[in-house]
This record gives sequence, structure tokens and C-alpha cells, in this order.
Amino acid sequence: MIDPYTLRLNCRCALCIDELSGALLIKKEEIDREVFPSKIEEKGNYAVAVVWSDGHKSSIYPYKRLTSP
Ligand SMILES: [Zn+2]
Repeated sequence: MIDPYTLRLNCRCALCIDELSGALLIKKEEIDREVFPSKIEEKGNYAVAVVWSDGHKSSIYPYKRLTSP
């Protein structure tokens, strides 16, 4: 399991990553070091949706991304 901060930084939703360029839209220094998932919801049997303590709620992670960054 990778740590929540790293996982938050690696969010691939449209708010965090520019879909066309793949550029990171969030700034590392703007992410709280102590960020944690406030809610985790299963999406089918391949992914989880995460609501973060900082209010970000469009994160979806395939299970395999939870174990390897
Ligand atoms: Zn995101």
C-alpha cells in the first residue's frame, strides 16, 4: 500500500491531470501532507473511488494502482 499523500498526488482525474497534455494541474505544495481518504467506495470489482479529507472527491483508483505507484 502506498501512502495517502502519494496516492492523492497521483490522482488521474480531469481536475488533477490535463487530459490532453497529461500535465499535472495540482501543485505538490498545495496538497496537505496529512491528507487521508475520508471515504472509500468500491467501484465494481476493479477500482475504488476515494473522497479525500481536503474535499477532493473525483479520485478513482484501479486496485493495482493502490499497490504500485
Ligand atoms: Zn483528482
